Amino acid sequence: MVKKAIYPGTFDPVTYGHLDIIKRAANIFDEVIVVIAHSEDKNPLFTPAERMRMVKEAIGDIDNVEVDDWKGLIVDYLNRVDARIIIRGLRMISDFEYEFQMALTNRKLNPQVETIYMMPHESYCYLSSKLIKEAASLGADISKFVPEKIAQVLKEKLKRHK
Ligand code: ADP
Repeated sequence: MVKKAIYPGTFDPVTYGHLDIIKRAANIFDEVIVVIAHSEDKNPLFTPAERMRMVKEAIGDIDNVEVDDWKGLIVDYLNRVDARIIIRGLRMISDFEYEFQMALTNRKLNPQVETIYMMPHESYCYLSSKLIKEAASLGADISKFVPEKIAQVLKEKLKRHK
């Protein structure tokens, strides 16, 4: 049986923290699909297509990782690809409450669904896309937080967004 997991999130933009979780998941599962949630309510800086491109660029050629996007419920996406495992990253205790609610809600929507939490390397525990965008918009060097190519794309986007 192929063990397939999905890693859903907004990825606005992808960071070294996300990449750390993707690599850990790819070491455990036969197939990992990174699912770019449209998350319109979060008012993302990048479009789903841009976020997908950035994740593809950042993961390079890990053979068992794919990237897709999805607008609806994650449990519906799981049905579509015939999977039942959701991977999420857990950084700090502050992530816990929201993640706990979401995992239980998804389980109520589909009792077959399991959410598995992975901790990143401690050097990425404080990283968030939101803070990186804020720091970049104030001119910080963000090369320690995201791959070089993503830093460039983010800089360009912020220039146009002003
Ligand atoms: P969402 O809007 O779904 O929270 P994010 O892109 O912010 O989307 O995060 C997707 C997942 O990755 C979440 O489970 C989040 O906790 C996790 N994550 C985000 N940043 C990091 C990080 N630095 N280290 C580990 N996990 C992370």
